[in-house]
Amino acid sequence: MSTIIGDEDAIVLDSIDNFIKHDVLPVAHALEYGDTYPTAIVEKMKELGLFGAIIDPEYGGVGLSVKTYAKIIEKISEAWMSVSGVLNSHLIMATAVQRFGTEEQKRKWLPRFASGELRGGVGLTEPDAGTDLQAIRTKAVRDGKDYVVNGVKTWITNSMYGNVLALLVKTDPHAQPRHKGMSLFIAEKGEGMTVRKLEKLGYRGIDTNEIVYDNYRVPAENLIGGVEGKGLKQILSGLELGRINVAARGVGLARAALKESVAYAQVRKTFGSPIAQHQAIQIYLADMATRTEASQLLVQAAAEAYDQGKRCDMEAGMAKLFATETAVFNTMTAMRIHGAYGYSKDFNIERYYRDAPLLAIGEGTNELQRIIIARQLIERNPV
Ligand SMILES: Cc1cc2nc3c(=O)[nH]c(=O)nc-3n(C[C@H](O)[C@H](O)[C@H](O)COP(=O)(O)OP(=O)(O)OC[C@H]3O[C@@H](n4cnc5c(N)ncnc54)[C@H](O)[C@@H]3O)c2cc1C
Repeated sequence: MSTIIGDEDAIVLDSIDNFIKHDVLPVAHALEYGDTYPTAIVEKMKELGLFGAIIDPEYGGVGLSVKTYAKIIEKISEAWMSVSGVLNSHLIMATAVQRFGTEEQKRKWLPRFASGELRGGVGLTEPDAGTDLQAIRTKAVRDGKDYVVNGVKTWITNSMYGNVLALLVKTDPHAQPRHKGMSLFIAEKGEGMTVRKLEKLGYRGIDTNEIVYDNYRVPAENLIGGVEGKGLKQILSGLELGRINVAARGVGLARAALKESVAYAQVRKTFGSPIAQHQAIQIYLADMATRTEASQLLVQAAAEAYDQGKRCDMEAGMAKLFATETAVFNTMTAMRIHGAYGYSKDFNIERYYRDAPLLAIGEGTNELQRIIIARQLIERNPV
């Protein structure tokens, strides 16, 4: 069995290396500075089957393990983190359908998600509800064969160049507890939606938007699982996957900052010797490398637990917390090591430094991860 997994890893990761070398690295810098959507890269990702990476082959996907998927995300993020964002929320959406959709919904949607014909993400956050998702106010009211949606979503990635979302709404705003009034829909782009692009510090090239829903209609048959009131649970289960993905991005970014620092420290000289000979710089490099390796191990452990179908919110939370804080630490430390050149747009470090903080915020802030970890510690170790 381990040989098969080994082969799967080797073949897939080889093709990813190739993709990065030929399709991502040559254009990343220009697309990022221009904040230009990477259309050609997305087309190549379709050819590679990446939009169906972890979708079951029965429904047109590739059926990779999350462990392999995490390695792919590490590699892509080492080159350009935005590209991994085209996949992350898309596969969270697909996972919600794969885990909780009716058989009819799986047959209808998953093959189109897997091919990349339909691409998208998750519509959760609102102007007054981020960490506290149960405070959302976007409402869906049944009207014949449809639901009519009104409200505002914000910070929704892949909603301008993508064409479908897993949309979290209130079908019963008065329900107590609040989550019993929350439902999740597969919502294709359509009339009654106004999408406005948001300007960001980093994570550029990929679109993140505000969406106003004004009497937008979604067919009742698109209610995931066909039952109201299950939406929060359906989307939270996908967020474990999202956290592993974000942690893997952290590893990729941390490694990129480390590698460039190791190289630079050997060529930049001060006081007659390469700065790598100075103990202060050695301490930086050692801390960066150790944290990167530890992050990767946490990501792989969380991915393994996920693949085994175990509850892994604590493992995913630890990986997300540690790997993303490592990305923040490494990118800042890389800037210190590079001196003024780290601050220059001619070097990648400046881009890494702008990309890293998102990882501490997205898919549940790192404050929230600590709360999840602590709650699980107590639940798993009762006295
Ligand atoms: C580039 C980008 C892309 C994004 N893409 C998407 C997307 O595709 N889909 C989507 O739905 N959302 C997306 N988001 C939104 C993201 O998920 C939220 O920003 C995140 O969940 C935090 O919510 P918030 O920004 O409203 O912060 P808030 O919830 O207002 O939190 C503010 C601060 O308070 C802290 N805090 C809150 N509650 C607690 C508590 N109980 N205890 C301790 N501290 C607490 C937080 O950790 C944070 O430090 C994206 C955000 C960004 C920046």
